[in-house]
This record gives sequence, structure tokens and C-alpha cells, in this order.
Amino acid sequence: MLKTRITEMFGVERPIVQGGLMWIARAELTSAVANAGGMGFMTALSFPDAEALRGEIRKCREMTDKPFGINLTFLPTLRPPDYPAYIRVCIEEGIRFIETAGRNPEPYLPQLKSAGIKVIHKCTSVRHALKAERIGCDAVSIDGFEAAGHPGEDDVTSLILVPLTRDALRIPIVASGGFADGRGLVAALALGADGMNMGTRFVAVKEAPVHENVKRALVEHDERDTRLIMRSLRNTERVMHNPTVDTVLEIESRGNTKIEDIAPYVSGLIGKGMLKDGDTQKGVLSAGQCMGLIRDIPTCKELLDRIMAEAEAIIKGKFGRMLPNPLAIAVPAA
Ligand code: NAD
Repeated sequence: MLKTRITEMFGVERPIVQGGLMWIARAELTSAVANAGGMGFMTALSFPDAEALRGEIRKCREMTDKPFGINLTFLPTLRPPDYPAYIRVCIEEGIRFIETAGRNPEPYLPQLKSAGIKVIHKCTSVRHALKAERIGCDAVSIDGFEAAGHPGEDDVTSLILVPLTRDALRIPIVASGGFADGRGLVAALALGADGMNMGTRFVAVKEAPVHENVKRALVEHDERDTRLIMRSLRNTERVMHNPTVDTVLEIESRGNTKIEDIAPYVSGLIGKGMLKDGDTQKGVLSAGQCMGLIRDIPTCKELLDRIMAEAEAIIKGKFGRMLPNPLAIAVPAA
């Protein structure tokens, strides 16, 4: 058992977080992460409206009695969501943890805080992490450049971003971007994080509600098989390489790109179709460089058991008595 400020804050056994995954972080996956001792967030925008989210929260509660939370992403969208309605449902359903991402969550914080909800804000730079702390977020999830989805525009990798964020903040931090195994967990703790977030790794698990082809693609592709799209719109997304991605990059290379030019290829609804029917050439799939570390499709429990065993073996065996203090706190008595 590795006890950290993140396990304490969420009331979970393991400092491993499954952050929001558009269309994928539904009750099946998030409850499996929770039952395996981690902290999972279901992605609100995966559901067409707030009532559908309410149904999924109730379904997840039937599948686990452990803590879980909801991810609310504030990024540009083709179909603007009714955020206040999603937040109202989270409060009514007694959700205790929300992961915000994309833009500054400040407008929603008073409402969330007065409902007693703890907010972990996912961001991609030290300055945004500092802002999150200043406005009252309870923790920060800091995304390095290796990450899937939207890693920001600064291109700073986790090896640099995590310790810099640790130095700048007092609140707990979760390291995200490039993490997929027990070595990553130990590294995250050594860099000063209180836990690690995994996204892509949690897509290639048995309980993820996506087509088997998608999971196999994550196993078969390696660390070189991601591309950055939408950089021209300053809304960069790291995705798995496929012919659709090449088309998007070709359109962007012409200059003066507008979202309308690429919407037929990048639309989330097309991506949703890929996850369902398994045609991995059609649409774009968020994926991180950690694809190179993904070699199998375990259950969440198998994955988290393995990560913890690896991490504890490294901490006890390889580092032995040379443990720095922050890690020593996290290590159980022998
Ligand atoms: P969507 O179909 O609304 O948009 C497709 C992509 O185009 C998204 O990456 C979106 O950010 C981008 N986009 C849309 N309008 C844009 C604009 N005017 N300028 C620049 N970029 C624009 O997206 P979706 O797949 O239905 O997802 C809904 C939202 O959730 C999006 O904002 C998406 O970025 C975000 N998201 C969330 C997660 C998560 O894990 N929570 C993961 C990936 C994406």
C-alpha cells in the first residue's frame, strides 16, 4: 500500500487515477478502476445530457461502493454542452470529486465548493497549476507533453513539468502524461507527485467499453505512432497515427485552417463510431506516447495489482535505504 495525499484526499487505496476519457470513461471502466483500488472519473460530456449522466452515476454506484468522480472538460466543442445542468446533477447525486480540464474552472468553483465537492484541475503548465491553487482547487493533475488528448501548447515533458509544479505548489499533484506502469508510478512519486494519472493505458483494459480492435491497436502501435493535430488552432491534440490524421495534417499544412475545414474528420461523433465499430482508420483517437509501454489487455485489477507490485519492488529493492523523504513517507513499514 502506498499512502499519499492523493489516496487520503480521495479515500482510495492506490495513488492511481483514471482521468476523463471521452466516450470511454463510463460506469463499466470507472467502477472497475474503483474496485481495483484506484480513483476513476466518468466523463460528463460523453453523455448527451445531464439526465443521461445522472443515470450513469447511478449505474456506477450499483457497480461499486468505492469513491469515484466526474470529469468536466471545458474546451472548444462542436456541440456546446449545458455545463450548469451537468454540475447540478453532480451536486444532486452527491458526487464528491470533480476533475476539471481545458479552461479555468473559476466560474464554477463557488457552486462546487459550497456543495462540498473537491476539485482536481487538469492543466498543462506551471502557471495554470499556480492559478488553480490560487482560485481554490484542492489538487492539480499536471499533463506532460507525452500525454494523449490535449497536452497544451508549451511542449514540456513530464520529467520537467512535474518537479517544477511540485516546487511551485503546496496542494497535492498528480503526474499525467507518459505513465503506464509501476516504474512510472515510482518516477511520478520521485518527481514530487502524490499520484499518477493514466489515460491511454486504461483504454487497453478488458472493462473499457470499446471495440477490441481499438485495444489491439494500442498494443500494436508504439511510442512513435502519435501525431499532433489542431496545432494550427492552438487546440493541439495528440492522437494515434492513421490515414484520417494524415488528411487533417495535410489540410492544416495549407494554412489559415478553420475548425470547419477539419470538423468532418476530427468530430467526436466520428471518433465515437470508431470506438464502437472498431474501424481504427476512420476518425481520430486520442492516444499518448505511452502506447510503446502497452503490451497487453489486462483487467483493471490485474493492471493495478501489477503496477503496485512493480512499484513496491522498485522502492524496496532497488532504492533500499537511499530513499528520499517524500518517498519514504509513501513506503509501508517492511
Ligand atoms: P467535438 O466533436 O466537439 O470536437 C472535436 C474536436 O475539435 C475536439 O478536440 C474539440 O476540442 C475541437 N474543436 C471543436 N470546436 C473547436 C473550435 N471552435 N476551435 C478549436 N477546436 C475545436 O469534441 P468531442 O470529441 O465531442 O469532445 C467534447 C469535448 O471534450 C471537446 O472539447 C474535446 O476536446 C473534449 N475532450 C475531452 C476529453 C476528456 O477526456 N474529458 C478527451 C478528449 C477531448
